[in-house]
Amino acid sequence: MARPAAVSPCPSCGDLAGRGYPACRFCAELVDQYWLLDWQELLAAEQLAEGGAGERELAELVLADEVGRHPWTCTDWAMTLLACSQCGDELATGPADCVRCAMADGLRWSWDHAGHPTAITAGEHALRTARATVRAPHRHRAATVGAWRLLLPFLLVGELPTAGQVRRLRAAVLAGAYAELAGCATYVELTSFPELPWRRPARPARPDHRPRTHLDQPVVAADAVEDAPRPGPGEPAADPV
Ligand SMILES: [Zn+2]
Ligand SMILES: [Zn+2]
Ligand SMILES: [Zn+2]
Repeated sequence: MARPAAVSPCPSCGDLAGRGYPACRFCAELVDQYWLLDWQELLAAEQLAEGGAGERELAELVLADEVGRHPWTCTDWAMTLLACSQCGDELATGPADCVRCAMADGLRWSWDHAGHPTAITAGEHALRTARATVRAPHRHRAATVGAWRLLLPFLLVGELPTAGQVRRLRAAVLAGAYAELAGCATYVELTSFPELPWRRPARPARPDHRPRTHLDQPVVAADAVEDAPRPGPGEPAADPV
C-alpha cells in the first residue's frame, strides 16, 4: 500500500502527521488506511458493505477463526469494529483489568508471532505495536506510549527503529523530554537525541568489548520493548514473546 513519501505536519492538528492518532481525524485516517485497505478487500470478497450488520458479523468470524487465517491488519480491524462483551469498550482497549480485552490483545499478538518473519515484516510489526499502544494508552506505561507516538509519523514512511532506539526514546520520554523530542523534524534527529547525562559513562569507558549489537538489531523484536499491558491479577501477560 502507498505510504506517504515524507513526514510532514498534519494540516489538522499541526503535529507531525500520524502523531495525533487517534484523536485527530486526519492523523487517524492516515494511520488507519493501512488496515482499512485490507479490510475493504475482505469485505468485497464477502460481498458485504461497510457499516452494516454483516460487517460486524464478519468481524466476529475473523476473530473466531483460527489464528493466522486472515491478515494481521484484518484481525486488528475486526477488533476495532467490535465492543468488548465484558467492559463495553472497543475490544482490547478497555480498562487494564478487563480480562476479555487482555485476552483479545494477547490473541492478536499470537498471530503476529506465528506470522514472523514471512507474513509480517519488522516495519509492519512496529507499526502494529505503535497503533495498538496509542489506541489504548491507559493499558501501557506512559513512556512507552510517548515513544511510539513520537515514532508513529516515521513508521508511516517506512522507517524502522531498532529495539535499542525505542528503548532510548522511552528513557528520554521518562526523563521528561517528550516535548523536546516532538520538535525533532527528522528521523535522524529523533533517534540520535542526546543520551541522558546520567547514562553517559563518567570516565572514559574501559576498553572492554562487550557486544552491544543486540541494541541495534532491527525490531523484529519490538517485543523486547512492546511493553504488554500490565496484566491484572492472575492473568498471563500478553505478548510474552
Ligand atoms: Zn493530526
Ligand atoms: Zn474489555
Ligand atoms: Zn510482538
